[in-house]
Amino acid sequence: MLETFFFIIGGIQPRVRVLDERPARCPACGLHQARTQRIDHYLSLFFIPLIRVRTGEPFLMCDRCRQTGPGSGSEAQAAAQRPSSRCRQCSRDLPADYLFCPHCGRRL
Ligand SMILES: [Zn+2]
Ligand SMILES: [Zn+2]
Repeated sequence: MLETFFFIIGGIQPRVRVLDERPARCPACGLHQARTQRIDHYLSLFFIPLIRVRTGEPFLMCDRCRQTGPGSGSEAQAAAQRPSSRCRQCSRDLPADYLFCPHCGRRL
């Protein structure tokens, strides 16, 4: 009972942080619109982030084609329909057309 209540008012929520405002070259489309980002996880209460509980690994995501996106919401659904491959370093499932692993940053 108490646990259910806790999950309604609080929980761990991911937040995207852009680490580098200077765009780099996107490995997928070749445009200079890829930025280094990181997903940190925060313990939040009433949807307000309070404490950072996990610092994510930096990865590159292109503003234009969003090729190495964080994979949430519609992104994740689209990814589920594409053929997938597995990262050799962290062994997570990834869409086959990814050039970099969004979880550990390894080039695929
Ligand atoms: Zn791109
Ligand atoms: Zn990986």
